[in-house]
Amino acid sequence: NVRVRFAPSPTGPLHIGGVRTALYNYLFAKKHNGTFVLRIEDTDQTRYVANAEQYIIDSLNWSNIPFDEGPGKNEKFGPYRQSERKDLYKKYADILINSGWAYYAFDTAEALDLERKNHESEGKTFIYNWHNRSKGRLVNSLVLTDEEVQNRIENGDKYVVRFKSPRDETLVMNDEIRGEIKIDTNILDDKILFKSDGMPTYHLANIVDDHLMEISHVIRGEEWLPSMALHVLLYKAFGWEAPKFAHLPLILKPIGKGKLSKRDGDKLGFPVFPLAYTNEETGEVSRGYKEDGYFADAFINMLAFLGWNPGTEQELFSLQDLVQEFDLKRVSKSGSKFSPDKTNWFNQQYMQLKSDAELAELYLPILQSKQNIISSKIDKSYVQKVVSLIKERAVFVNDFWELSNFFFEAPTEYDAKASKKNWKEGTAELMQELISEIEKIQDFSSENTEKVIKNWITNKEIGFGKVMQPLRLSLVGKLAGPHLFDIMEMIGKQETIKRIENAID
Ligand code: GLU
Repeated sequence: NVRVRFAPSPTGPLHIGGVRTALYNYLFAKKHNGTFVLRIEDTDQTRYVANAEQYIIDSLNWSNIPFDEGPGKNEKFGPYRQSERKDLYKKYADILINSGWAYYAFDTAEALDLERKNHESEGKTFIYNWHNRSKGRLVNSLVLTDEEVQNRIENGDKYVVRFKSPRDETLVMNDEIRGEIKIDTNILDDKILFKSDGMPTYHLANIVDDHLMEISHVIRGEEWLPSMALHVLLYKAFGWEAPKFAHLPLILKPIGKGKLSKRDGDKLGFPVFPLAYTNEETGEVSRGYKEDGYFADAFINMLAFLGWNPGTEQELFSLQDLVQEFDLKRVSKSGSKFSPDKTNWFNQQYMQLKSDAELAELYLPILQSKQNIISSKIDKSYVQKVVSLIKERAVFVNDFWELSNFFFEAPTEYDAKASKKNWKEGTAELMQELISEIEKIQDFSSENTEKVIKNWITNKEIGFGKVMQPLRLSLVGKLAGPHLFDIMEMIGKQETIKRIENAID
């Protein structure tokens, strides 16, 4: 029974690394008819950001990878916010204290600092574990009597509960992506599990919840790999069966070295967040894929390939295909370079896959917001035809207007350089003659108009460019756009003539 979870801490907007972790969990769950759980890890109140949880949920929904269980949804293992599960963790800390796997420590921050400095001055690193825990200045329940411990707690002395890492053991663990990993327990710190403010740390809450929520596979970012040993030991200490672990590779910066950070987006001018995000403290707004005009399915397809590949040449995968093909065995160990260009490429591919009707729906609101456009042209079937003529040149729906404004309004200016080169002496007369020819055309379909006008040019024994370039300038305003006769058919005979007359004036 596969149960996986995405367990973000609501400390700000998720960047694409977080969405990729969610995606791989989702794909793995769906592939195995399992359950995808969302758990909010908000035990660190100092880093809590109020709108972050909603942002996470909105991002998953926009990406079409909704959770099956989580806050407000199928709460059978709930609550799913750790802050609402607070009262449960103390009991588990006590279990470990009673079984000798954990102990109370009363060291102040200053004392620990001093210890660290003293070690450093001797060229050693300070590790709080069997090396030190019963020696020197450290004050904990391993060196105090039970009575002393009780007194301190009753006095209200601040304490933490630390895990007692085993001495001289080699821990052999397995990661679904990385294979066997061996760790010498002597390098492990006695990590803090619980604090006297009543809050568990990430480690304790995470293990207890994964156990209680019956999580079968922990799929998470590589930054958690160093915590795996402690987590495996905690399962052992509780006598619980550990889930399987899979640590995903880093997502790397497009240029230069290192991990992609939340700040890279602004620096290089591309979004790193799924949705635009307003920082409520600073008012600063970060760009989002959605608002920048990316299709959710293209975004997801791109993300799937940041760390996974199907082992074939195929690059375009619907979410359904991804569910079919996804396999942790094909997730790479090494980091994956994020590429804004490849992201745009995916969007362009998806643009071609979408129906004209769907794209027209997205274009209509943009058209409705424009002024001075021929109102009869804001018509669904007309817009669909326009879209079919221009979409191959577009990366975003937001590019449509630039590529097609001349289908909706007469040019208001003409490209100066192109005019100088193509609108010469005699052009006005030639265009006047062309108008007379056009007036005679009955069947104004693209094919027929093309045939008639090309015949006329051939008979006149002048170069095609002499007519076609000024004609394009008159209709479009620049030397760009789709097949000219298609444009003429679309805007119609009257409008064609009107635009040539405008250009002559
Ligand atoms: N709360 C952790 C995070 O923010 C969860 C890590 C895990 O999946 O165990 O990423």
